[in-house]
Amino acid sequence: MINKIKLGTSLYENVQYQFDKAASLINLDDGIRKILSAPTNEIVVHFPVKLGTGEIQVFTGYRVQHNNALGAYKGGLRYHETVDIDAAKALATWMTWKTSLAGLPYGGAKGGIKLDPDKYTQSDLEKITRRFTFALGDNIGPEYDIPAPDVNTTAQMMAWMADTYMSTKSPNERSKYQHVVTGKPVEAGGLEGRDRATGYGVVECLKEWAKDKGVNLRGMKYILQGFGKVGFWAAHFMRHNGAVLTAVQDASASLHNPDGIDPDRLLSYATYNKNSIKGYPAADEINGSLFFSLPCDICIPAAMGNQITEANAGDIQAKVIAEGANGPTDVVGDQILIDRGIEVIPDILCNSGGVIASYFEWLQNRNSETWTMSEVLKGLEVKLSDAYSRVKTRKLEYGTDWRTAAYVEAILRIEKAYKQWGIFP
Ligand code: GLU
Repeated sequence: MINKIKLGTSLYENVQYQFDKAASLINLDDGIRKILSAPTNEIVVHFPVKLGTGEIQVFTGYRVQHNNALGAYKGGLRYHETVDIDAAKALATWMTWKTSLAGLPYGGAKGGIKLDPDKYTQSDLEKITRRFTFALGDNIGPEYDIPAPDVNTTAQMMAWMADTYMSTKSPNERSKYQHVVTGKPVEAGGLEGRDRATGYGVVECLKEWAKDKGVNLRGMKYILQGFGKVGFWAAHFMRHNGAVLTAVQDASASLHNPDGIDPDRLLSYATYNKNSIKGYPAADEINGSLFFSLPCDICIPAAMGNQITEANAGDIQAKVIAEGANGPTDVVGDQILIDRGIEVIPDILCNSGGVIASYFEWLQNRNSETWTMSEVLKGLEVKLSDAYSRVKTRKLEYGTDWRTAAYVEAILRIEKAYKQWGIFP
């Protein structure tokens, strides 16, 4: 079957392949298969912004709403050169499976703007974000489609988005719309701990995995790709659990130190080095192509999609891969890992801590509450361990790999919803 796959598949082809594999395994109803095989809405907006230099630039923004059978569309917005309609469709589809698997009352969406944020000032980024929000208009809404942060988007940007959206409504109803965006800064209605939720969830999943195997994360060595929001917080909680970071890679460099790299020191360094790890003195810089072949027990890809492929999946030494990123393993890479007996905790489970915490933020705003950090972390633990054990049950029931088992669990919940709703008219 794998031979039929083209090399260099797009993100959308990857997610479709993963879906088809699970749908065939469970003999998914044909009609529901058709519905879930394509997004519901694909919104593309072109909008002008007058930059600080006086130049007018036209940007292209995307929002793809894949499915809302279980509730409002939900998912992040990313600012990156790789954002296009294919990426937005793939990432929106992953959100549908992720929210379903987590048992949230949400569907899936994703979007963003094709741009490199490093090329713009903060003030330009504020204008771009506000103008994008305005262009989306009522294609988003607190009970309809709720954006959140993703690659290169920050809590500050979420505050600008929410403020812009609320400013288009009547002033006396402003607070009614606060939950239009999640991942806001705490004082602007955000949730304590939302910043670390995805990384925390990655480590919770690894703890569940370790418990299953009867091993302990303490003393285990791991390599980490990506040192952004997800990567840093995963490293922070890995250290809390006694695991040792031996290599880290970002877009600027690959660092290696078999005795361990201190994530907090690396973060302080990167903060003063334009968010790049290059030049960090307490590790050696190595050739990036060697990164995935380094000795380790655990590998955490927490950067972009399509990083583990035919080119490197055969070299990976880890026993387990915890997908902090969305779609880091392509279809051919995945099959190589399965054949080699390397377990993959799939993205739709492993990085779902972020959207679960977004759900808590949404509830917090909707109910005019303030949740504490410990309530948030406890809530994440409960939901993630429940999702993990449901995936494990499906894995045993269908005798399949972790990813397909996670898809089965996610798809079956949506299939039931469709059977109950019926199809209008
Ligand atoms: N961007 C995150 C993800 O890919 C979070 C989405 C959200 O909180 O809605 O899961």
